[in-house]
Parts: sequence; structure tokens; C-alpha cells
Amino acid sequence: MNREVRVRFAPSPTGALHIGGVRTALYNYLFAKKMGGKFLLRIEDTDQTRFVPGAEDYIKESLEWLGISPVESPWNPGDCGPYRQSERKPMYMQYALDLVEKGHAYYAFDTPEELEAMRERLTAARVVQPQYNSITRTQMKNSLTLPPEEVKARLESGDPYVIRVKIPRNEEVRLNDMIRGWVLVHTSTLDDKVLMKSDGMPTYHLANIVDDHLMKITHVIRGEEWLPSAPLHVLLYKYFGWEDTMPQFAHLPLLLKPDGNGKLSKRDGDKLGFPVFPLNWVDPFTGEKSSGFREQGFLPDAFLNFLAFLGWNPGDARELFTLDEMVEAFTVERIGKSGTKFDIAKAKWYNEQYLKSKPIAELAVFLLADAKKDGIVIPSDKIDPILNLVKERVTFPADLWKESKFIVIAPTGFDEEVASKKWTADAAKLLGKYAVALDSFSGEFDAVSAKALLERTAEAEGIKLGKVMQAVRLAVTGSGAGPDLMVVFAILGSAEVAKRIRFALNTLTVAA
Ligand code: GLU
Repeated sequence: MNREVRVRFAPSPTGALHIGGVRTALYNYLFAKKMGGKFLLRIEDTDQTRFVPGAEDYIKESLEWLGISPVESPWNPGDCGPYRQSERKPMYMQYALDLVEKGHAYYAFDTPEELEAMRERLTAARVVQPQYNSITRTQMKNSLTLPPEEVKARLESGDPYVIRVKIPRNEEVRLNDMIRGWVLVHTSTLDDKVLMKSDGMPTYHLANIVDDHLMKITHVIRGEEWLPSAPLHVLLYKYFGWEDTMPQFAHLPLLLKPDGNGKLSKRDGDKLGFPVFPLNWVDPFTGEKSSGFREQGFLPDAFLNFLAFLGWNPGDARELFTLDEMVEAFTVERIGKSGTKFDIAKAKWYNEQYLKSKPIAELAVFLLADAKKDGIVIPSDKIDPILNLVKERVTFPADLWKESKFIVIAPTGFDEEVASKKWTADAAKLLGKYAVALDSFSGEFDAVSAKALLERTAEAEGIKLGKVMQAVRLAVTGSGAGPDLMVVFAILGSAEVAKRIRFALNTLTVAA
């Protein structure tokens, strides 16, 4: 029987959601949509010591910003709730006890001091990875070594205990990862992980398997850091008798620092010159602030497109994909095995492509809002020409106003460095004549006629236009660089250009 595809994103609310986590959510979303299945979200908050207030809201808001919200989640529960593990607490013990009964798990009563002593003993004996496993458990205080009456008495008297999985000494565990192919692990390398903690909370391993089973998860798509846990998970499915419905695993490649040296971590924060979080975040304990892609001006569709390509590609040269197109093109098989370097220049490139392909009306919203913050109202007939001129030059929406400010607001000062080099007697002479010519100009003042008039004026004065062009720009815009100046002239109109030139002539003096 073909089961409905159900995948989940299972973040722990331990701080801001790292972009690696966002990518995991995106791949889960794409896979679910592609397969006509469902994308769920489960909050994995069994470790109460690492709980960070606000983190869950942050996760929700990040996915909403990107338009990849789950169809079942704590905020929108389906039939498999609750969707927060802390609220599922009463469900887990019976599963742990089931494993104890079947002989696949056991009670362990060791105190922290006893555990520490074991570690010291093993370290002194030069054991590389001292752990509680099929060998060492025989020397510890657990229901495999203590007499049954003592175990019973301890349990009845409320002695603190944990429940550990009993890993066999000499078996092979195989799993067929959708990205990595067959992964083979020998159980001698695994330890007897705790499944149930002494506070009655399950650990990640137990809760994750029980929940994936109860939530009918068919595919587990998650970060590579969970690959070492996968053999234990496979064993747990077997011990529970759930092998038939065990999900398929896909472990995603790591996101690496731009130089390829190590994993891009949460701690990298803004240190590498770019955010590692989707949204701004303030740590509620330390007050430390981290910036987000959203607040830096990244557009959600551009950011999604960029993220998808950090580990996946469609197998041809196409790079620009809407979310729907990504769904269409997505296959897990086209996710790479090796880590992907984070490249902020590429993220900006995507933003530029998306920004310049937006309808002018959408860009106008950004422009007008930013102009308004400066108390400026842009005349309605100037909005479209301004946007058409500057949209090719911007990376972020905020750049639209930054790039067009000089068109809308006449200069009150001039770039001194440019002025000292370029404001020559010839330039001043030409501009004076041009202003006069503009006064009497009649006809359509567009980029072509503005230029023709300037050329005619220069020719009549015997001045080489190339030599004074930067001064002309300086006079009208206040700076030495910017977009096509003749288009700027056309937007301003002949009277405004003449007025600005006269102000420049009155303000700037020719260097001796
Ligand atoms: N709670 C785990 C995390 O925070 C989820 C791992 C998984 O998807 O199995 O990454």
C-alpha cells in the first residue's frame, strides 16, 4: 500500500533558527509538495535546560516570511498532536517500558559520580572513546547486573534511574540513505544511549522515533549532523517492531563557511560579514543582537532560491526558480553529498535579479516608503522613470531611494574631491552657456535632446565634452558618479537642470 508522503521539520527551540535549519525546512517543504504529500513541524523541546523563550515564535515567523509554512504544527494542529514534545511527555514512558520488557532496554541506576569514575577508569586505560556500551555496562549498576529483587526494590523506593537502550555487541546496522546510499555501521561503535531521563523526560532519540512513527512520517530529511544517530534510530524501529513503516532517511550536506573551513555555525553570527539567521534576533538571556537576512533587505523569494541552491541543483544551467518551479524541479537525488560553501555574493546576486524583475508598482512601494521616512514626497509622474533608471543598480530595496535621492533632492553641497579635480574654467563656462540654452529650449526634453543640446553647446565653445562630463554630473547631482546622466536630465526637466547648474555656478569656485 502506498502511504501518503509526510515529512517533518523538527527544530529544537534553543535560539534563533540557523539558515542551515531553514534550508532543511525548505527541502522538506519542496519534497512534500513535489510528492503531493504533507509538510509538518514538530517542536523538539525535551531538553528543558536548553529552552529559549521566543525561539518557537521565531521559527514560525521565519517560515511564514518565506512562505513555506507547515500544514500541521503546534499553531495549526492536525490529527497527530500535540506537536510539541513537552506536551507529549506522558506518551513516551510506555514505549521505553515496552523495550525493557522485550529485552532491548534496561534500567540504569548509576550516579553521576559513578559515571564519572567509569570515564576516568577508561581514560586511564587509554580507551579513546570512553562510553557506556555493551562491554562497560557489565561493570555498572543496572538491571542487567543487579539481582532482580534489588532492581525491583530500587524502582519501588523511587531511586533515580534512566532507561538505556541495550546495543548488541556484534551486529551490523545498514541503512539506505537517499543521498548517501548504503551506510553500514558496526554496533561495537555505538553506545547504550539514554532513552528516558531521570526526570521522566524522553531523550531526543526516543521521542524522535516514537513521534515520527505516531505522526506517520515517511521520509526523514535532516542535517548531516544526525547521520551518526541514524543507526541507533534504525535499531529502535526494529526493536519496536515498526520496520515496515520505518521512514526513509536523507541526510543533507553541511553548510560550510565561505572558505570551506568548517561548518557555518550559529556562533559565526555577523562575524563573517553576513547574517546566519533569517530574521533579526536578540538573545533573551544575554541581550546579544544578531542580524537577519530579512532586515538586511533580502527578498523572501530571492532568499529561498539562493538557499535551495546551497546543496541542490536542477542538473542544468538554470538558476532562477520561483517556489513553484523549485517544487516542480526538486528531487532528493540531486542533492549533493559534500558540504556547500556559503557565498554571500551569490545571495546578493539573487536579490538583484529578483529586485529588477519586480513590477514597477511593487518597487514603488519600497521607494515611496523610504522617501517618506525622509519627509519627501516624490511627484507621481517621476516615480516610474526613476525606478526604471535605478533598478538595474540596486541590491536591496533600500538602495532604490539611496540611488534616487539625488534626482529628487537638489544638491546643497558637492563632492569636494571631484570638485577639486574636475571643476575647471572650461566646465563652468560650458555649464553657464548650457543653462542659457536650456532656458530657451522648446520641444521634447528627453535624454537624446538633452544630450544633443549639450553637445552643440560644447562644440560652439570649442570644449571637449569628455573632459567636463564629470563636472556636469557634479553640478546637477552633487556627486561624481551615478546612473545615465542624460536620463536623469530628462527626468528632472530642462528648467530644474538649469536651476541646479546656476546653483552650482554660484557655489563652486574654480581651483587656481
Ligand atoms: N531536533 C533535532 C534538531 O534540532 C531534529 C533532528 C531530526 O530531524 O531528526 O535538529
